[in-house]
Amino acid sequence: SVLYQNVVKNFGALNVLRSLDLAVPDHKFLALLGPSGCGKTTALRILAGLDMPTAGKVFIGERDVTRLQPRDRDIAMVFQSYALYPQMTVAENIGYPLWIRGTPDAGRKAKIGEVAAILEIGHLLDRRPRQLSGGQRQRVALARAIVRDPAAFLMDEPLSNLDARLRLTMRGEIKRLCQRLSATTIYVTHDQVEALTMADLVAVMHGGELQQMAPPIDIYDRPANRFVATFVGNPP
Ligand code: ATP
Repeated sequence: SVLYQNVVKNFGALNVLRSLDLAVPDHKFLALLGPSGCGKTTALRILAGLDMPTAGKVFIGERDVTRLQPRDRDIAMVFQSYALYPQMTVAENIGYPLWIRGTPDAGRKAKIGEVAAILEIGHLLDRRPRQLSGGQRQRVALARAIVRDPAAFLMDEPLSNLDARLRLTMRGEIKRLCQRLSATTIYVTHDQVEALTMADLVAVMHGGELQQMAPPIDIYDRPANRFVATFVGNPP
């Protein structure tokens, strides 16, 4: 599970998160949805430990992780720029999170094989990132993220660099992948269709505030206010 407790974030005079309270149950896939600049990425970076909140706390499971280093938080994150290591092979990229934690070679190799099979990239393990298509790079980034069974799996617009057709395919793939994981997933997007079709729960943000959190069907059929209704395409 993931919990934001009264999280405030200011960048100088700019108040980006007002007082965010958000609880995501274990194993659920939450889409954090809202227009550009509403604070989605900032909320995700605070959970990952890449930004510090001005006030408030974040929990992963029962653990208050607010003061922990990113590597101690038991999270994995996939960005829109996949951030693969260009000099490493696909196998080395995927295995890197295990390697830095000292997992022995045999265990690492087995785990790389397992996640590569799930993402259907077993035939690409000896290639370098520049020898891959956009969709293949995306799969490698996902494989690297899940190789360690993180408690929380965070994605920030992971499909924005793909063409429309591939984006559709990957929506389904990511959804299936997350159903196999035991992680709590948070998926940042400004695309309402993506949020409504992929997520168990949708949290709509606007102006640094949570407007509504509910299953997709309720967000669409029973929007909490005019902003939510208009943003998800079901205006009053
Ligand atoms: P997008 O979909 O465009 O990424 P977002 O909802 O993820 O938008 P954030 O990236 O969280 O929004 O940004 C929220 C606000 O905070 C924006 O006005 C942005 O300019 C500002 N902001 C983000 N990071 C910083 C920073 N490091 N310093 C100053 N301002 C920042």
